[in-house]
Amino acid sequence: MNTPLGGRLICRQCAPEARDERRARAAELPRLPADRNLVLEIEKIANGTFSPLEGFMPRAEVDSVLDTMHMTDGTPWTVPIVFHVDSALGSSLRPGSQAAIWNTVEDRLSAVITVSEVFPLAKEKFARSVFGTLEREHPGVALMMGWGDSCVAGEIELIDHSTSLIPQKYDLSPTEVRAAIAERGWKRIVGFQTRNLGHRAHEHLQKIALEHADGLLIHPLIGWKKKGDMQPEVILDGYEILMERYFVKKNVMMAGLTTAMRYAGPKEAVFHAIIRKNFGCTHFIVGRDHAGVGGYYDKYAAHRIFDEFGDELGITPMRLHGPCWCSVCEAIVTEHTCPHEDAWEQISGTEVRAMLARGERPPGTFMRPEIGDFLVQRAREGRVFFEG
Ligand SMILES: [Zn+2]
Repeated sequence: MNTPLGGRLICRQCAPEARDERRARAAELPRLPADRNLVLEIEKIANGTFSPLEGFMPRAEVDSVLDTMHMTDGTPWTVPIVFHVDSALGSSLRPGSQAAIWNTVEDRLSAVITVSEVFPLAKEKFARSVFGTLEREHPGVALMMGWGDSCVAGEIELIDHSTSLIPQKYDLSPTEVRAAIAERGWKRIVGFQTRNLGHRAHEHLQKIALEHADGLLIHPLIGWKKKGDMQPEVILDGYEILMERYFVKKNVMMAGLTTAMRYAGPKEAVFHAIIRKNFGCTHFIVGRDHAGVGGYYDKYAAHRIFDEFGDELGITPMRLHGPCWCSVCEAIVTEHTCPHEDAWEQISGTEVRAMLARGERPPGTFMRPEIGDFLVQRAREGRVFFEG
């Protein structure tokens, strides 16, 4: 099993026995509003998903990450983790003071932050570095441009966890996943990031990787999603079927990663790899257009960015090509190994939507029939896509 980035798993969660006292103290503090994404960021810092971060980044750290893909102490990091507020609210905070972070979605306390610095967010610099574009059509840029203009830096302590976006059995912390890995005795663990249902192309990648590892962690990302993305229960329930029917059960496990998708392509691929290292993975699958959106990134830019880090990430990327069914090979193939480009079956998300709208099962060359039937059933119930 791998060590966390920085050597130890961070815990910034209030001990249960101290919670009442912390809540009472927090009631006296000024409140900082946090939307769903910020609440999830806090919880990921608190449970060690973002180790070695212990809080929200100060300006020098953000600049360092944007300029060099490393923190000021040289630790690799590619996506700044910031707490944004309106500038008026930001200017009311003094360094050294504390504030209560208020979960505005559920109207309750989340955490306490000890303010180290308040600084203006350089949004254009952020967009250019992280997303590689300033275009407002890019969903990550659009979201970020809507943030408050100030950032509050400082260490946090999580007091109350939000209601989970997914069933509790899947909402596992790095500590819990590590315990499960230890119990299974896996040494080499490969992590798989997805925001989609388990179709045959992904199964192919997972199994290529699993041939080289003791265990596979299927780790769907569940968080802020855009219209047309699949609902979390469809992805998780679908994978249950796939794992049950098509995997050796002792060699695979699944957990949900509740964090926002940033659509930052290559930079997010590295960020995703670091997160999986913190969950204990030694290897991480990087596919075609990892964390991409629209046509913003070259389809293998996410492969190449890992070359810039060498060994320092401490997790090995498994760079795999985009697979699909080839009717000549009669197998799932990739452009790396199959020359019959004209015989490749390309089915887009739009086409899958259209099939489901007609009550039609996607072809077995694209999706296992059990998953297809399940999807058709869920589509009938209107429980597949976010309508946004
Ligand atoms: Zn072929």
